[in-house]
Amino acid sequence: MTGERRDDYDLIVVGAGAGGAVVAARVSEDPRIRVLLVESGPDYPNLESLPEDLRNGNRGSLTAHDWRLRYVPSETSRPGQAFPRGRVTGGSSAVNTAIALRGQPSDYDEWASLGNPEWAWEKVLPAFCRLETDLDFDAPYHGKTGPVPIRRHPREELVPYQAAYLDACKRLGYPDAVDHNDPQSTGYAPHPMNKRDGLRVSTAIAYLSPARERPNLTLLADTDVVRVTFARGAASGIEVRRRDGATQAISAPHVVLAAGAIHTPPILVRSGIGSKRVLERLGIAETRLLEGVGEHMQDHPAIGPTLVPKEGVAAYDQPVIQTTLRYTATGSNDVNDMQLEPISFMYRPDRLLMGLAACVFKSYSYGRLAFESADVGAAPRIEMDYLSDERDYTKIIDGLQRAMELVHTPEIEALIEGVRRPTDGELADAPALEAWVRAHAASGAHPSCTARMGPADDPTAVVDERGCVHGLRGLRIADASIMPRVPSANTNIPTIMIGERIGAWVREELAPA
Ligand SMILES: Cc1cc2nc3c(=O)[nH]c(=O)nc-3n(C[C@H](O)[C@H](O)[C@H](O)COP(=O)(O)OP(=O)(O)OC[C@H]3O[C@@H](n4cnc5c(N)ncnc54)[C@H](O)[C@@H]3O)c2cc1C
Repeated sequence: MTGERRDDYDLIVVGAGAGGAVVAARVSEDPRIRVLLVESGPDYPNLESLPEDLRNGNRGSLTAHDWRLRYVPSETSRPGQAFPRGRVTGGSSAVNTAIALRGQPSDYDEWASLGNPEWAWEKVLPAFCRLETDLDFDAPYHGKTGPVPIRRHPREELVPYQAAYLDACKRLGYPDAVDHNDPQSTGYAPHPMNKRDGLRVSTAIAYLSPARERPNLTLLADTDVVRVTFARGAASGIEVRRRDGATQAISAPHVVLAAGAIHTPPILVRSGIGSKRVLERLGIAETRLLEGVGEHMQDHPAIGPTLVPKEGVAAYDQPVIQTTLRYTATGSNDVNDMQLEPISFMYRPDRLLMGLAACVFKSYSYGRLAFESADVGAAPRIEMDYLSDERDYTKIIDGLQRAMELVHTPEIEALIEGVRRPTDGELADAPALEAWVRAHAASGAHPSCTARMGPADDPTAVVDERGCVHGLRGLRIADASIMPRVPSANTNIPTIMIGERIGAWVREELAPA
């Protein structure tokens, strides 16, 4: 064992979300390694105690277990909007829409080409297989025994709009993708989803449920991690603040941060890891200067027409998303860089609407986090800067035009009274359309890359390709923040894959000889 018995634990994992719950569960499979998992939000130890908003995988839970964040307007995307993030065991995997996509092989080969050869497609594929039990397809690129069940809504489960959407895509000549997780696939099909009988299978259910009885795994919920502590250039533990305000130091020679792309960087900053400018301004003693902390944030911005459904077509209890179209934007070299996703219902104060979201899944715009306070209760300022790169704007406009074509097929027109926005006037006038797009394009809920991985000579990198923070021993990161580029997929399954891989490496390293 690398940790000596005088430490409280051998490993502390910070944040029980898509990355952290997986690391804690995989490492604690070795009964000799004592693991502490710390989570800011509450814990529901079994399905019986799980509240309805976390149980219902047919729609995201946006407020009941949320961090109440907002992102700020910018020159290129004006709305400042709510920015949901899960605060509960399971993290955002416990509140999300349960879409279970992996992305393209080229996404991971790009990670490798940026100096991270361990993350090439052929190296990550075994972890994608290990995490899943695909209930629909048997193929060399699918797993059959993993903790996350993945299935697609069959035709008879599709609500009228989602079924009509697949027919509309077919009419316009898009190919049938059959299985969106087939690495060669493109086109329309039901989404692979990690829900079963409507239950969202978060990492708390898939990974922590079978692990929580282990005597070597301790879960500390309702507790905020303030900072990582260090001794002689190596992590020595953490300082936590409990709900009653009391602080406590907990020791361990290995710490894995997995607080997510918005919350891992401020923990780094409070621990003295960040740019000189930020540390000096906040009066925090320097542990390690790393300029990339909080920079290079990416996401998948989206916009699309809002539709007025005919009576009885849409309802709040329908699954909000069941299908998608993946395609390559006109003139783009990024395969499957777009998704057009029908939204079964959208709440508006005056009436129920439906939507068709055009999401840029290979985006080039970068946002950042600004750190204005060293207080554990203060959120960073979230500057998304969507559509600041013209390539993203071009793709989203192409997506909007394709969405309008789909809306005007007989299959969709049979279900709607009309299109509310964009108006015909906006569609006919490029500046008006741009104003509408920039005023309404919004987050895909996939913030990532704020502590990206890369080699030591990459000034933007925060961790190396094994998740180790550059220049410090015993401190790793295993969440969406370490992605070097956001993959062209919803980010839950890719983050679980990161947890699988870093979890396996940590278990290997900490196992006694
Ligand atoms: C509303 C919504 C819908 C989404 N839909 C989808 C979808 O359908 N498919 C998909 O693939 N992705 C989806 N996502 C994104 C996906 O869930 C995330 O990308 C993924 O969960 C990121 O994993 P993570 O480990 O980086 O962070 P998280 O899963 O967010 O986990 C971070 C954890 O750390 C905890 N934490 C933070 N700070 C501290 C602290 N100081 N001390 C202790 N604990 C702390 C948090 O409470 C949280 O539990 C959605 C996200 C949201 C919010």
